Amino acid sequence: LFISFEGIDGSGKSTQARQLYESLRSGGHDPLLTREPGGSPGAEEIRALVLQGDPDRWSAETELLLFTAARRDHMERAILPALQAGRTVICDRFADSTRMYQGRGGLRDKVDALHDLMIGIDPDLTLLIDMPAEAGLARAKSRATDEERFEDFGLDLQQRMRDGFLALAAAAPARFRVIDGNRDMDSVARDVHATVLRELAP
Ligand code: C5P
Repeated sequence: LFISFEGIDGSGKSTQARQLYESLRSGGHDPLLTREPGGSPGAEEIRALVLQGDPDRWSAETELLLFTAARRDHMERAILPALQAGRTVICDRFADSTRMYQGRGGLRDKVDALHDLMIGIDPDLTLLIDMPAEAGLARAKSRATDEERFEDFGLDLQQRMRDGFLALAAAAPARFRVIDGNRDMDSVARDVHATVLRELAP
């Protein structure tokens, strides 16, 4: 089973991905916990390139190609081998993040074309950790570091990102589950765990 976590910055998806990893392990599973951008040695190098330094040194199109290159390597070297070995893969962000972030400014058609051409897979299950734009922004700001880029979208864009993720979920209801992330961490984690158990043992 290939599971991805998606959501706006500060939604708590990385914490939830790790919690799910721990609880599946306690249940005797051997999941792979991974993340994007990154997740394989080559893709982590691309992550450092795209999230550090002056973000304006290349165009939005070039950045889309870099994110796609990172995903291709991550998929070839980490995700597909784990799935082929029968392991559950838990991925903190996947192609939906690129649909949202690199798809801004009219590039969505190019995002979709590149996905079809070079990636070609989507998760079996995508958990959208949903929360109000204000709450996510406050959390993301409070832990932003200097090393990696944090795009302070401002409330307006954060709100549009949230709406965009919800629209993706509405367009692919078989793959998405929307989880209310605006609760204490343990309640969200219980909800996530129950949702995944239903999928693992239908
Ligand atoms: O998920 P994580 O916090 O590691 O993401 C780091 C930064 O990269 C965030 O500011 C996020 O908005 C950005 N990002 C992006 N495009 C992606 C994935 C992440 O711009 N496809």
